[in-house]
Amino acid sequence: MTVLTDRATDPAVLADLQDARLGQAFFSRALNEIRNDELGEPSRMPGWSRAHVAAHVGYNARALTRLVEWAETGVETPMYASPAERSEEIELGATLSPRALRHLSDHAAVSLDVAWRDLPPERWTARVRTARGRDVPVSETVWMRSREVWLHAIDLGPGRGRAGARVDDVPARVVVRLLADVLGAWADRGEQPVLLETDDTGEVFGTPGGLVLQGRRADLLAWATGRSSRGVRRADDGSAAPPAPAWL
Ligand code: ZN
Repeated sequence: MTVLTDRATDPAVLADLQDARLGQAFFSRALNEIRNDELGEPSRMPGWSRAHVAAHVGYNARALTRLVEWAETGVETPMYASPAERSEEIELGATLSPRALRHLSDHAAVSLDVAWRDLPPERWTARVRTARGRDVPVSETVWMRSREVWLHAIDLGPGRGRAGARVDDVPARVVVRLLADVLGAWADRGEQPVLLETDDTGEVFGTPGGLVLQGRRADLLAWATGRSSRGVRRADDGSAAPPAPAWL
């Protein structure tokens, strides 16, 4: 059944859906600002062109749609058949014509949104398994998508004569949640404690007892997600920040 409004009733899910949709618009706008002849140029992701980023974000929407279908039907449908298949799909997707690539990006995003919209309220707590083997309620797919679209919009980089999507454009609540995600992942893996002190908002994130870094909140997020270390310094001696541990 297709309805025009979300069937979900949980306020937290509805708020997450709003952020994911804003993030999708942010990504789509960034992709639209890149001309067809710029798609083959390097993105900010090492080894990936902008076409790779666009293909990956499109296929990610399809993979998450499979998880929503799993939650709806109870029939197990994994995100990807295997990590190798996921990589091959991205490589192949990056060779699509610009028109096909843009179609993939738009169409996959709409399909995912329709799947979320139509998922009955009682199915949002159904358990599914992510590509990384985490057992999560399907509601988690909304935040998983948010992370992808907000960050990969920035990874696309600016088109000629355009500003491009910047970390500064990401809403504060999304930045804060991303930081908590990254720091939590490091803590779970037993990485050295990291404390982040923001210059611009006076906030503190992370765990004391190890590395302490300072910088603008947006710059600290770019550092923590492995995007850039610009504007981030060690609190003890003001020297440049070391590379961040891997996040995902
Ligand atoms: Zn990604």
